[in-house]
Amino acid sequence: MFDSLSDRLGGILDKLKRRGALSEADVGEAMREVRRALIEADVALDVVRSFTDKVRARAVGVEVVKSVTPGQLVVKIVHDELVAMLGSDADPIDLNAPAPVPILMVGLQGSGKTTTTAKIAKRLTEKGKRRVLMASLDTRRPAAMEQLATLGTQIDVTTLPIVAGQSAVQIARRAIEAARFGNYDVVMLDTAGRVTLDEALMAEVAEVKAATNPHEVLLVADSLTGQDAVNTAKAFDGRVGLTGIVLTRADGDGRGGAALSMRAVTGKPIKLMGTGEKMDALEDFDPKRVAGRILG
Ligand code: GDP
Repeated sequence: MFDSLSDRLGGILDKLKRRGALSEADVGEAMREVRRALIEADVALDVVRSFTDKVRARAVGVEVVKSVTPGQLVVKIVHDELVAMLGSDADPIDLNAPAPVPILMVGLQGSGKTTTTAKIAKRLTEKGKRRVLMASLDTRRPAAMEQLATLGTQIDVTTLPIVAGQSAVQIARRAIEAARFGNYDVVMLDTAGRVTLDEALMAEVAEVKAATNPHEVLLVADSLTGQDAVNTAKAFDGRVGLTGIVLTRADGDGRGGAALSMRAVTGKPIKLMGTGEKMDALEDFDPKRVAGRILG
């Protein structure tokens, strides 16, 4: 589909002298290709600009050693900078708080929020040996509540019984009480999603957050939605405050640009990525893999 960045840069830079330091002109030409590759990978424009500025500053003056071509050298610098910007260390979910630790899941409808809530619960139960209680706060969509209950049965994780007529905050409080009395380690709160960002959604999520003081607020965002995912992340972080991001549909054919943009715009770590519909399809975020994909 696209030429890889290595091929493109190879074509341009390998005509240059193979010894000495990279000049402004060499790097400038290379950065045009890097810009193009990042834009094709759906990275937000202002992020592309700040990224290429950083790479340019790092690359000019670097000595081209005998064993690599200038193209390979620039690709390595771009790759390393991408990994650094995406977050170079694995950043797992933080459960370092008194039990039951509340985790608030937020995001737009269809992003994969309910599925991801269950996937995380399964992972914490199986790998982390924690007792997890899940609760759906989606009072407007009974189907969403039932979906979480069905997933709970499937993965053998308890869901809070549904009581009709309660508000999201009332359900959240009841979930925390139930988790306390039942000696659960973690209580996962799956908030309502909306098709678009709106004030009612933000107000409700903010209210639930104030009432439950969650230790993690995780945004679930669809990596295939590009700039929309970035705007969603910005809005939730500004209004509610996020502690991390989970990217879904990393198994799709997107090039990963949304990951870089969300990370750059919010500064919040991408903690996990969804790689399929199955309950096991959840992995630690891997900056090297995503950087490789962005480079094509
Ligand atoms: P919600 O409205 O945000 O709660 O979204 P759901 O959890 O109901 O997910 C919507 C659809 O996306 C479902 O069919 C999920 O199976 C699917 N889905 C969720 N996460 C992933 C993922 O990482 N990869 C793929 N391929 N599908 C996913």
